[in-house]
Amino acid sequence: MPGSEAELAGLLPALSDPVVLGGCTNLLLSDFMADYPKFVSLRQMHSILSDPPYFRAQAGALLSELIRAALPFSAAPAPLSGIPGTVGGALNGNAGAFGAAIGDFVKSVTCMDSSGKSLSIPASECGFAYRESIFRTNRNLIIVSAEFEFPPSAGGEERAKEILALRRKNRLYEQPSLGSFFKNPGNDFAGRLIESAGLKGFRIGDAAVSTRHANIIVNLGNATASDIAEVAQTCKETVLKLYNITLEPEVITYGFDI
Ligand SMILES: Cc1cc2nc3c(=O)[nH]c(=O)nc-3n(C[C@H](O)[C@H](O)[C@H](O)COP(=O)(O)OP(=O)(O)OC[C@H]3O[C@@H](n4cnc5c(N)ncnc54)[C@H](O)[C@@H]3O)c2cc1C
Repeated sequence: MPGSEAELAGLLPALSDPVVLGGCTNLLLSDFMADYPKFVSLRQMHSILSDPPYFRAQAGALLSELIRAALPFSAAPAPLSGIPGTVGGALNGNAGAFGAAIGDFVKSVTCMDSSGKSLSIPASECGFAYRESIFRTNRNLIIVSAEFEFPPSAGGEERAKEILALRRKNRLYEQPSLGSFFKNPGNDFAGRLIESAGLKGFRIGDAAVSTRHANIIVNLGNATASDIAEVAQTCKETVLKLYNITLEPEVITYGFDI
């Protein structure tokens, strides 16, 4: 858990294949990885500098804290309210909801390569798309911080309250989960396909397809990572067999090939 960019730069050359942890809200690590010696967490690098409409956040800051800092000046990030995890994790997967995504507000991302060399990447070169970025495809790039611009507008805090109320009303996240497991394919919805394949409630061990939304796999108590992976694999195979559509995980997995 490096506390500064200098400490991170000193650490990286010794780690050939580190796994970067953000808030771990979107990561499925194999049960056998508990002893993996090369986890890097940036949670101690969590400062947020505010100079509206510009904001600079370190990767370990919570996304919710960045949004809270911006809302008095801008309603634009309100749709992202309620997405758990860190700024680094959000940038990695271009997290989004209700028609907005974090990449919409990025000016540049500062990251480090595996040798500890720092580089600044303008938003136009970050490859932001639906749950995609160059950081997702290139696991050697570690996001250190990013600069954001939130266009000035009023009513941000009220809009965020409405979004949070909507998320609570949907009651999708009352049981532990990793959020949506699969990306929506093309113009379809992963949840619709899994549900129409008859898999709502399908269970292995303590992992089950949520009865509220079929694209969420919930932990009913003591699910192992393997239980969750097996449920996901069954969803993927069944949808492929019935509809000839290949579901791609939104969740990042290590030690599984889903
Ligand atoms: C209840 C619930 C609701 C959710 N709702 C939404 C939603 O509405 N919209 C949405 O888009 N997502 C949603 N998610 C998924 C998840 O919250 C987001 O993807 C989030 O942005 C992940 O952030 P994290 O810090 O937890 O990342 P992690 O899970 O820790 O990591 C995710 C990936 O990012 C990488 N990573 C993390 N930090 C860095 C870094 N500094 N540099 C490089 N790579 C890094 C990791 O190695 C991993 O590959 C939800 C999840 C849950 C559990």
